[in-house]
Amino acid sequence: MKIFITYDYELFFGHPTGSAEKCIIEPTNQILAIAERTGIKMVFFIDTGYLKQLENYRNQFPKVAKEHDLVKEQIQNLTTKGHDCQLHIHPHWEDVKHNGENWEMNTSRYKLDDFNDDEIVKIVQEYHTILSRWTNQPIHSYRAGGWCLQPFNRIEKAFLNVGLKIDSTVFRNGKFTAGNYYYDFTDIPNKSKWKFQDDLCKENTNGAFWEYPISNHFYKPLFFWRLFILGRLQPDLHKPIGDGFPMPSPGMRKTMLTKGMNLSAGVDGYFVTKLDKIIKQNKAKGFEETIIIGHPKANTKFALKRLEKFINKHKNKDTFLTFQSIAEEL
Ligand SMILES: [Zn+2]
Repeated sequence: MKIFITYDYELFFGHPTGSAEKCIIEPTNQILAIAERTGIKMVFFIDTGYLKQLENYRNQFPKVAKEHDLVKEQIQNLTTKGHDCQLHIHPHWEDVKHNGENWEMNTSRYKLDDFNDDEIVKIVQEYHTILSRWTNQPIHSYRAGGWCLQPFNRIEKAFLNVGLKIDSTVFRNGKFTAGNYYYDFTDIPNKSKWKFQDDLCKENTNGAFWEYPISNHFYKPLFFWRLFILGRLQPDLHKPIGDGFPMPSPGMRKTMLTKGMNLSAGVDGYFVTKLDKIIKQNKAKGFEETIIIGHPKANTKFALKRLEKFINKHKNKDTFLTFQSIAEEL
C-alpha cells in the first residue's frame, strides 16, 4: 500500500481563529519530530491565502510580522527536510482583515465557486505564485479548502493556467451542502486514483488532471460520543493543541451523535484509531493508495503518539509517499 499522510496547514476559521503558535507552529514541530524519528516524508497543504495576508499586514503590525517570520521559517524547514508543501486554497482570505491583535474572519465567500470566473483564475494564479516563492518547490498538487471544488468546470481553466496536475480533495460518499459548504462525492469511480478533466468525480482517461481521493470511513455514533467524552474527561490527552474555533457546520454535530457520519480518513485526535482498519479495507478493495488527511491544529497528544505507532507498524511492509515523489512520473 502506498500511504500519503497529508496535513492541511492552517488556522481555525471561526472566532477566535487561534494563534499561529498553537494552531500551526507547535503541532507541526511535533509532527516533524515524528517524521524524523520514523524516517518518512509527509505532504503539507499550505493555506496560501493566509500567507498572502501575512505579507499584506507584516509591515503594518508587529504582531503579524512575528507571525509571518515564524510561519516562513517553518515552511522553509519543512522543504529543507524533504517534505512536500503543496497548494491549499481557502479563498475567503480575500475578505479577511487584521486589526493589529487578531484576524477578523469573514467566510461569506468560502469557496472558489463564490467568486466570478476572472477572480477564480486570478486567485489560483496569485496563490500559486506566492507558494512557489515561499517554498522554492514545484507546485503541482492541490487540496480545496473545506473540500469545496465543485462545480469543477468553473475552476478547470485556473488549474490548467498554473499547471496543477494532481488534486486530493474528493472523499468517497462525502456530501455536505449546509452553511458555507458545498461538496457532493456520492458518485465517484471505484478506484484509488483516476484521471479527470471538467468533473473531478468522473473518470476521463484523456484528462489533464489526476484525482487522488482522500480515503473515507463511516464513523458510528458511538465513535463520536467517545471522542466528545474523552475530550472532557482527559483533556490533556484528547483536547486539540490548536486554540481556535472552527467555522460552523450546521447540523453536523447532531448527525454525528445520532446517525454517525462518513468522513475523510483522519489522523487527527481520536480519528487516528481507525487508520489500521481503513488500510485493511482499502487493501481488500484492491486499492493501491491510501490518502490520509490531518490538521496540525486538531492534533492531540493521544493522536501524535498513535500516529508514530501507526507509521512504525506500516513502514516496513507499506510505502509512505508524497505527491512530489510521484508527480514526475504522471
Ligand atoms: Zn483547509
